[in-house]
Parts: sequence; structure tokens; C-alpha cells
Amino acid sequence: MSSKWTVERALREVRTGVFFVEGPASNWVILTEPGTRRFTLIDSGYPGDRGRLLASIAYLDRDLDDCAALLVTHGHSDHIGSAAYLASLGVPVYAHQLELANVRREITEQITVKDMGWRVLAPRILAWALHAVRAGGLGDVGTPAVCAFTAPLLRSLPGALEALHTGGHTTGHAAYFQRSSGVLASGDAVISGHAMSPFHGPQYLPAPFHADAPAVPAAAAALPWPAVSCLLPGHGPSQELPDGLAVDGIRAGDYWPFGRAWSIRGS
Ligand SMILES: [Zn+2]
Repeated sequence: MSSKWTVERALREVRTGVFFVEGPASNWVILTEPGTRRFTLIDSGYPGDRGRLLASIAYLDRDLDDCAALLVTHGHSDHIGSAAYLASLGVPVYAHQLELANVRREITEQITVKDMGWRVLAPRILAWALHAVRAGGLGDVGTPAVCAFTAPLLRSLPGALEALHTGGHTTGHAAYFQRSSGVLASGDAVISGHAMSPFHGPQYLPAPFHADAPAVPAAAAALPWPAVSCLLPGHGPSQELPDGLAVDGIRAGDYWPFGRAWSIRGS
């Protein structure tokens, strides 16, 4: 999968100044600012995606000195893979107040291979797990420098975003919304595809991947859907939503070998 990745194919300007980058297994977003070189980054892929992340920034004729902030949707290794690296270069890293402990790895709200048991041997799951390991998913991604964002801060950054707390996937998961364009970076609150999933289109991850699975559809239902015209998920391709999105139609991640009932807390 990763051997075929090229920045030309992976990066797409979905709205003026909003660039969606589909990584081999997880995505990031670059929001530029008219008339300046500054940009805001949402998420950063796996540790193994660093070269791709840097390539996507260079492709837009920018470098890390221009990065005004990294906004983290949640503290999973496929989203904060370069967060500590960026922080070490002086890039401010922000997340929701309730997600700081997970980003700092003071706690770990993330499924492990051990949690998955025999299910990891299901072919699609095994392929994904091997990719995750190769991409550095087991490495130390803790980012002690992360700070809590505030609404005025987010408005002042390139992209002028709002954060929407979407707890469930993790306690402090946040989606980021650019109201002027209708673009929603949904992280893992709603995704559009995944290496593990037989489905294409808006869907949830399977229950075991959420800290609080029943809270996930409730968080998705509370998002400002009538104002969302473009979904930029943490996994899967971007989705134009010319007719909006029926939240009832978001597919459950209840495909084999996962079911609705099994979760980290409730297994
Ligand atoms: Zn993810």
C-alpha cells in the first residue's frame, strides 16, 4: 500500500486553502492562510508517515517553520505519530483539555494487540495490524508538550477553525470545523473507510476501538451536519456531502470479527 503512495495522488485541495492528505492508513489536513506561508496541521499520521507528512508540506511550498500549530483530534499513534517531533521543533501542539493525558501518554486509551485476542488473525485485521506495527504504531508517541486549545486560539489560526468535542472514540476526542466552507475534519468520530472494513462511506470504527463505544453515535449525532458539506475523516477518502449526511445512515462497525457488544471496557 505505502509503496504506491505519492503526494500528487494523496493530496487534494477540497476547498480553497484546505488540503486533505490521505495517508497509507490515516489522514491529515493542512489549512493555509491567504497571503502568508503559515499553515495549520490537523493530525500527523503514524510515526512512519513522517516523510509523507513532510513531503505534503513541501508540496505546498511550505516548511515546518511555517506551521502555526498542530491540532490533534485524539491521542492515538496513527494521529500523533509526528506530534512530539513537531513539538521538539517548536511547533505548538493542541488538543482538547480532556485528551491531554492520552496525548501525553499519562493514560492510554487505545486498543492493543493483546486486547484483540484471536480476532487479530482475521485476514483484514492481520493485514492492518502488521501495517500498524511497521508504521511505528507500537512506538512511544507521547507528547508531553501538548496544551489545551481555546476557542479564540483556534479562530486565530490559519483555517479559522472551531473544535467540537466528540468524546467516545477517546474521552477528549475533538473534530475540527471550518464553518465558512463547511469542512469537517472528523478524526475517528466518523470515518469513511478503513483497511479493516468491508464498507465504503460514512461509518464508525468497530466497538473495541472506542474507549466508550455507545457514546460514539451520540457524539456524531451532535455534530452540525446541516452545515457540513465536506467530510475529512481520520481514515478513508474525503466525502463531499451535497445532500448532507443522514446520521442514521452512518454504518456501524459491526462486521466480522467484531460485534456491537465487545469493547475495551465491556469485553
Ligand atoms: Zn485512527
